[in-house]
Amino acid sequence: MENKKILIGDYLGTIEEFVPGKGTYAEDGKIYASNMGKYLVDPENHVVSVDGKNPPVLERGQVVFGEVLDLRKNAAVVIARKLQGHPGEVDIKTGLFVSNMADSYVERPEDAFAIGDIVKGVVIKIESGLIDISTKGPMGVVKAFCRRCRCPLEKSDKGPDMLECPCCGNKEKRKIAEDYGNVSEL
Ligand SMILES: [Zn+2]
Repeated sequence: MENKKILIGDYLGTIEEFVPGKGTYAEDGKIYASNMGKYLVDPENHVVSVDGKNPPVLERGQVVFGEVLDLRKNAAVVIARKLQGHPGEVDIKTGLFVSNMADSYVERPEDAFAIGDIVKGVVIKIESGLIDISTKGPMGVVKAFCRRCRCPLEKSDKGPDMLECPCCGNKEKRKIAEDYGNVSEL
């Protein structure tokens, strides 16, 4: 884990292995990062810490912009890069469960999102360092790229959740935000 950039909520080890230091917290015997930054271990005292800047305090209702990093069985992992109303960039790991993706039923994450999509979401839950966001209502994908050729997709007139590739004509479905393609923060 040396030299790895740590994100908030990253698992760092157990309290049997380490003493939780600055920028970390322990819960149920496990140590997680409460800061983003550099992973540090004091080998003499077995203290693990994360050296970095203090992130802006995240609260419920905060609108975030982030990138879809991974699609799991019933959730997408979204790395929040920007907080609406705050200058500068952040790196905060958030979870987007299928039940929080759209107002209608979503069976699998890949039915609504693709890896690399930029999404606008709202923080709905913060618990044990895990942050849940929702993309219901006006939230959703604000920028997406063609799975075939990586061109930025444009809104399609084929349906409310359809995007179209101006380069190759490929059509793709997403949970699209009201202001798709029109977000000045990005
Ligand atoms: Zn394309």
